[in-house]
Amino acid sequence: MSDPRFTAKRAERTEIPRPKRGEGQWALGYTEPLNKNEQSKKDDSPLNVRDRILHTYSKRGFDSIDPADLRGRFRWMGLYTQRKPGIDGGKTAILEEEELDDRYFMLRVRSDGKLLPAAAVRALGTIGVDFARDTADVTDRENIQYHWIRIEDVPAIWERLDEAGLHSLEACGDSPRPFLGSPVAGVAKDEIIDGTSALAEIERRYIGNPDFANFPRKFKTALTGHPSHDVSPETNDIAFVGTVHPEHGPGFDVWVGGGLSTNPMLAQKMGVWIPLEQVPDVWEGVASIFRDYGYRRLRSRARLKFLVADWGIAKFREVLENEYLGTELVTLESPASPVGHRDHVGVHEQQDGKRYVGVAPIAGRVSGTVLVQLADLIEQYGVAGARLTPYQKIVLIGVEPEVVDELLDRLDEIGLSARPSNWRQNTMACTGIEFCKLAIVDTKNRARDLVAELEKRFPDLDTPITVNVNGCPNACARTQVADIGLKGQLVMHEGEQVEGFQVHLGGATGLQANFGRKLRAHKVTSAGLDDYVTVVVTHYLADREDGESFTTWVAR
Ligand code: SF4
Repeated sequence: MSDPRFTAKRAERTEIPRPKRGEGQWALGYTEPLNKNEQSKKDDSPLNVRDRILHTYSKRGFDSIDPADLRGRFRWMGLYTQRKPGIDGGKTAILEEEELDDRYFMLRVRSDGKLLPAAAVRALGTIGVDFARDTADVTDRENIQYHWIRIEDVPAIWERLDEAGLHSLEACGDSPRPFLGSPVAGVAKDEIIDGTSALAEIERRYIGNPDFANFPRKFKTALTGHPSHDVSPETNDIAFVGTVHPEHGPGFDVWVGGGLSTNPMLAQKMGVWIPLEQVPDVWEGVASIFRDYGYRRLRSRARLKFLVADWGIAKFREVLENEYLGTELVTLESPASPVGHRDHVGVHEQQDGKRYVGVAPIAGRVSGTVLVQLADLIEQYGVAGARLTPYQKIVLIGVEPEVVDELLDRLDEIGLSARPSNWRQNTMACTGIEFCKLAIVDTKNRARDLVAELEKRFPDLDTPITVNVNGCPNACARTQVADIGLKGQLVMHEGEQVEGFQVHLGGATGLQANFGRKLRAHKVTSAGLDDYVTVVVTHYLADREDGESFTTWVAR
């Protein structure tokens, strides 16, 4: 339901015609729930499920959980049921959700771009060891994701997270999802502006705030003051991107309406300059537009990108300024998008002369044990802490130059390489069929094997080629913006349906931002993936012109 407080806040309503057929937009008076998700959120605030988990479900066990909480409101606490083991991808679309449900949960813990000191990394590791069968993946939204969580253990896990200054609140659900912050905020020598305080303020004001806990769907935030645009701003609902005004100095441009999945759209640049202190207010304004004007009738149209596409960026800015901010923003041409790596892998000098060191697990797969070992190294070598990255990497911050070489060797010993091959550095994978109920194919193990094979076949590749492996069309590992984007689906092979991928070629972010071409003929079985990538890469290497990138070659 539309809350009268929100209406009162608007300064002045921009003239927006009421569509004949309601899209469920609260601001236009369509406040009655039009689908079961909207009904569930109206029946009870999803934030209330926390108390039931702590005081009822964790004590009485899995079977005591109300189905509306289990498959709906639990997400606001970062909890999803995981996929029952042994159900193949062909059953994903035909089974009911409850038939796919395991009695264990996936738990997502948000880091929101924070620096994680040794104690926090250790807490994250021991939770994996003690409660999650040693799982602990690094996701491309800077989360740690566990599996095999029992409902009985959730209170103890939350207690440990709380002690470490972490939480899982609104890590999933129709809510302000985990923020992507620059992994090198406050330390990179070439930083334009440090946005750490703004992200912390957004978290303080709005996470767990009932006024911002019922969006039409998820709402993804990214913020960076680094010139590499290291938070994939093109693919977020709202992104703040560092820019310099000739008179006012460093600040942020605002991009809105990015998102991938089945109707991919790149974020549109507002072309403004806002100071650091104004970031939380602008976040509130954009989030409020999404809440009030976002489409709620069809889940498939309920992301901010559809509203931005329909309105256009000029009208979106007008509504933001007139109805929500009550002030005009300063116009400034958007900063040029960069080329090159955004993942910070390797050793780099900081502003203070120390080093930051980016390391690459394989396709984000870590474990509780590895995180505990990492915490040991952070302590032993006097490192300030670690940050997670949107590319499934980990960056150690504040390393003394004289310990770098020894530390790199120790990191290699625990499977975290700061000197990875192209394939290891540039391959990402989503959760996939191992645990995800929407998955059609395996991803993490497939990506690991692909990396190992390509390292043998192309050991000296001289130019980066990115490979993003996704288990279904939802594109959690950003199918459409990789050089080789893989979308899990069943494909025909010798008269039978088997696990495979639709291939998208030549996608990119940054200067060459565009979606990979979906080539209908390019469908490959999972078993044939190594050979398929080999053929494509061999062809590119033989055919490219001097300095020609994979993206440009595909576009020819
Ligand atoms: Fe699951 Fe599909 Fe997302 Fe992969 S892309 S994590 S399979 S929903």
